[in-house]
Amino acid sequence: MPSRIADIKAAHPDNLMARHFNNDYFQSLDPAKQKRLLKVFASGLENPDSQMGAYAMNPDDYDLFAVQLDPMIRDFHAIAAGTPIAQKHDWNTSALACDLSAIDPRLSDVSMRVRVGRNLSTFPLPGAMDKNQRIALENIVVMAFKTLLDDAEFGGRYLSITPGSPHEIDAAEYDQRVSAHQMFKDMSGDRYLNVAGISGDWPYGRGMYVSQREDFLVWVGEEDHLRIMAMQRGGNLNALFARLHGGLQRLQGVLPPFATSPVYGNVTSCPTNLGAGMRASLHMKLPQLTSGGQNLDGLKSEAKALGLAVRGAGGEHSAAGADGLVDISPSARLGVTEMEIMRRLYDGAAKLWEKEVAAGGGEHDDA
Ligand code: ADP
Ligand code: MG
Repeated sequence: MPSRIADIKAAHPDNLMARHFNNDYFQSLDPAKQKRLLKVFASGLENPDSQMGAYAMNPDDYDLFAVQLDPMIRDFHAIAAGTPIAQKHDWNTSALACDLSAIDPRLSDVSMRVRVGRNLSTFPLPGAMDKNQRIALENIVVMAFKTLLDDAEFGGRYLSITPGSPHEIDAAEYDQRVSAHQMFKDMSGDRYLNVAGISGDWPYGRGMYVSQREDFLVWVGEEDHLRIMAMQRGGNLNALFARLHGGLQRLQGVLPPFATSPVYGNVTSCPTNLGAGMRASLHMKLPQLTSGGQNLDGLKSEAKALGLAVRGAGGEHSAAGADGLVDISPSARLGVTEMEIMRRLYDGAAKLWEKEVAAGGGEHDDA
């Protein structure tokens, strides 16, 4: 194994599992723990082009294998060794006005999304679940949603893709919800998630809650047990974050406790999502900065300097829209508060928009 990892490290220096593999530590583990750690590393071993190269299988992996995982986590999140990680939370959404229309009135109808990843402490993480556990988890969560169904603010519907579920939707509705960016894509074709076991037993135990207004959504059985999100068109990030926080609090009151780590805050499958577990994104039209959506490289490096990541219009690993429509979001999740993420998104969007306008762009008739 060590020589295989050395080969990956040489060919793919950005694979953080290979970069930080600690052979002395690995050899010091008993065979059962070695086996567990190799399962955590399976996706990075099979897919050497991985960025992190690891998915936790159980919430306590982060504490149990801290010697190995902590340097990888710090590398990704740019937290120096020895610096304490204090994952604080701050949902004081009205403390700082973040309305995109104050940047430019043309940014008053942008597609905004903010999600948090959460996992129940009573199950293994998705990579280590069996089919019965996936179905049991969906049933527990559906019971919790039932307490919301008739709520004036968060009432809605649960849509399942579990074959035979009483809430099952047909393939046409599933496809339509995916195109509308509400529902998650078919995970069974994803080579990273497949090797990690996260897409196992697809599509059993999978579904989505959607509020009446279609602005509060909860994914069940994707990369984390739950991805809880608010999604709205407009420019008011404060309102978007407040919507998510309200829904999150409601769910927390009716679900088993979420898995947390004393060091890393919210526990997620992928170490890139630890901490706030939050990704807040805007669908922005930046045709000048992307050569009409043809080239994301230049925008990616400009965005990186602002602490932002760029994805295509269909999410991770997708291409930009022909009109230069891209997904921008702050990269930091660990050691930053929710409000800090909102501020970074607002400030970063303002800077990118200024560059786009200076380059001759500036239309945002997004639809
Ligand atoms: P995450 O991993 O944060 O859940 P993904 O990159 O997997 O997000 O994307 C999930 C879905 O959400 C995709 O359909 C993507 O296009 C959509 N999406 C992300 N941000 C926005 C946004 N601001 N507006 C509309 N859809 C969005
Ligand atoms: Mg994703």
